[in-house]
Formats: sequence, C-alpha cells, structure tokens
Amino acid sequence: MKKGMKVLVIGSGGREDALVTLISRSPLVSQVYCAPGNDGISQRPKTHCLPKLKADDLWGLRDFAKSSQIDLTVVGPEAPLVAGIVDGFAAVGLKIAGPSKAAAQLEGSKVFAKEFMERYKIPTADFMVFDDPDRAARYATANLPRVVKADGLAGGKGAIPCKTEEEVAIAIQRIMINKEFKESGDRVVVEEFLVGEEATFMVLTDGWDAIPLLSTQDHKPIFDGDQGPNTGGMGAYAPAPVVTTALTKVIMETIVGPTLDRMRAEKIPYKGILYIGLMITRDGPRVLEFNVRFGDPELQPLVPLLQSDIVPFLVGIANGEFPEEMLEEGIKWDEGAAVCVVMASHGYPGTPEINKVIEGLDKVAEMEGVEVFHAGTKIEDGLWKTNGGRVLGVTAKGKDIPAAIDIVYQKAVPLITWEGEHHRHDIGQKALRRGFKTKMGL
Ligand code: AMP
Repeated sequence: MKKGMKVLVIGSGGREDALVTLISRSPLVSQVYCAPGNDGISQRPKTHCLPKLKADDLWGLRDFAKSSQIDLTVVGPEAPLVAGIVDGFAAVGLKIAGPSKAAAQLEGSKVFAKEFMERYKIPTADFMVFDDPDRAARYATANLPRVVKADGLAGGKGAIPCKTEEEVAIAIQRIMINKEFKESGDRVVVEEFLVGEEATFMVLTDGWDAIPLLSTQDHKPIFDGDQGPNTGGMGAYAPAPVVTTALTKVIMETIVGPTLDRMRAEKIPYKGILYIGLMITRDGPRVLEFNVRFGDPELQPLVPLLQSDIVPFLVGIANGEFPEEMLEEGIKWDEGAAVCVVMASHGYPGTPEINKVIEGLDKVAEMEGVEVFHAGTKIEDGLWKTNGGRVLGVTAKGKDIPAAIDIVYQKAVPLITWEGEHHRHDIGQKALRRGFKTKMGL
C-alpha cells in the first residue's frame, strides 16, 4: 500500500478526534487534515485542522481534496453521506470511505430502512408508516406502548418512546405538527416497543464482505440508571458482554449478511461503516436502527483496543474491495476492555453553557492507558475552554471492564474540572451485571 498518504477526515466531534488519532498513528500516513476539526484535534500528530471548511460544504470539501491531492477521505457524521458526498467525490476520481447517497438511506430514511428489513425478513420491531398525524396518533394510542420515530435525520433525537396516550399526542405534535426536525417529520414510523438490552454492532464492509468491530454499548439518557432525556451519548464501553460469540454469529448471519446481499441485489451496494443499533430481546437480536458511519461515542473506547492499522481497511472500503489477506487476518484487538465517559457542559442536552475554563487536561495527558478525545473544546488566551454540550470523552483501558471503570472514574475524570461540568457515574455497570468474564464475541 502507498506510503506518505494524505488523509482528510470530515467532522468536528469526539468521534472525529478518535478517527484522527487512529489515522495519525498509521505509518502509511504523512499528513491528516480535519475539516472543520477543533482545537483538540489540531494537537494530534501530523494533523492540521481547517476550521473554515464545514462538514456540509460538499463542494468546498471536494475542491480542497482535489487541489491538495488527498489520497483518502473519511466521513465522520451522517449528514454529508446522506447528502451524497461519496457520489460527488467518486465522480471526480477521489477515494472516499463511505456509502453512496442511495445506500446512505439506510440511515437517512427510517421508512426506507424499515421497509427494506420487512421485505427481506431482517429481524426488527413491527411497524406502520404514516404521513397523516391523526391516523398515526390513533394507531399508536390503540397499540401502546409504541415508539414514534421521525422518518429523516434528527440528530439522534427523533425516536420518542410513548407509554400513554398523552405521550403519543406530544410526540406526534413535536414531530409532525411543530416540525421540530423539519421535513424529517413529514412521515413517521410507529414501532412496537421492544424490551431488552441495547448493543452497538459495527462492521467495515467493501459491499461484499464484512469485518466486525468489537461490540460496544452506548448510554443515551443524560442521567445515571438511564433516566432523563436522550443525548448524543454520554459514554460507551467495549467489548459488550451482552454480545456473546453465539450472538455475533446470529447477527452476522441474520442481519449483516442479508443486508449486504440485498442492498447489492437492489443495485445499491453498501460500502462503508455499517452501524447496527440492536435490542437484544428474549427472542433474539432486533435492529433498532442502521447508521452509516462510526458511532459517537462508540468509536472512542475502540481506539485504545485496536491493534491493527485502520488505514488499509478504510482504503479497502474506498476501493470497494478488501484484499484476500485482509479478510483472512481480520482486525486485531487488545485483550483488555475500555470505558469512555463523556464530560458535558451545564445545560446539555439543552442549550449548553460554554466558554468555561477547563483545568487538569495536562495532568491526564501523562496517564498511561488514558486518552482524552476532544468533542467541544477551544484554546483561548492559552487556556482550554468549553465550546459545546459534549466537551470531552475520557477513555481508559484496563485488563477488564472493572479495571477500566476504576481507572476512568477514580483516576482520570476527577482530575478534569470546569464550572457546571457533569457526567454519568455508571458507564460500564451493565457489563458488570452480566458478568464481565463472558467470552467476548470475537
Ligand atoms: P433510534 O434512533 O431508532 O435508534 O432510537 C433511539 C433510541 O430509542 C434507541 O437507542 C432506543 O433506546 C430507543 N428505541 C428505539 N426504538 C425502540 C423500540 N422499538 N423499542 C424500544 N426502544 C426503542
């Protein structure tokens, strides 16, 4: 594989910092650009951020990639993928690791994803689609509990669980009448409410073969014990013991394989990172959602565990073909476990207070086995300050989940402070309840 590569990463959050960290580690790479990036990302080795080049400026990104002779582009967030950035780059011969606009509908339209799964019997919750608010409300009310979901992108906030008639009325009002998520709420999916434990299963795919990553578990609600409103994600750990070796096989055979085969059969082959949000029910795994990119924060705990160089895999995705030896070898992982705790600003997930001085980053930088990913920070007058809702993802690796929990909560997080900072205290606890010694899925 070519050495001295120039790689462009698109996005500006903790996931993109994790991606830049992985890519800058690669001996194949001489320069990493991140558009727009953030001040934390710009501290990474070999890395230069482009703060004026936003993730939705598809033409600007393409012009930059062309004129700077970028060898590979990797897209962090979903919106540019759903808007068709891969088609635009590919049309001028630029290599980019992600799905086409048509294939990105797996995330861009819940109606598309659900109808696709129904057509091919890929296990998911029962559902109905509505474009009429009254009919949607009548159906949901008659079949409680249900989950009401906006069809299009909604920044992770478009799925509203409803246990009462009143909750249904509020959900429909917000999505279809008030148009809180704009045209994403023109249609809704009203879905059976599933009970079980959630897990995230991500694979890298060239359209034909899929290489699974370690399973992870996100924590969406803002408060401990999964209480309070949903956020972008307050922490994650890997590997997730709920995804056993046997379950991995079931997921690959009944979900990943059929999805890739059927997407090809429908002439919209899916190449990229396929993120499968699962509910592990008593009757087996059910797909809650597809995402068309790495999870944030789920990628963060994978960084200290990943031993392989990720760049050849990303090149394989962009080429639409993984070399045979790559498939044989797969991805190599560290034996241990990692836990990522998201530290957030006062006000988040509502409007966050920003510009607070962050103390302690220098102390944590010296700690063995701890990585701090920057999601919403900036440097002003030589000081680190908060610049968003989710500010940092503090990630620790240990020999197992209890050890990683201990390092992150006892040693790392307490060293970092700012006014109004808050975080969850129970990331990883679900793994302990299950017995963390279970053999992991890979
Ligand atoms: P989604 O964007 O579809 O993944 O939904 C966001 C969150 O809502 C999920 O992570 C689950 O916690 C919850 N959720 C979504 N669909 C269901 C369902 N059918 N049953 C129970 N909870 C769900």
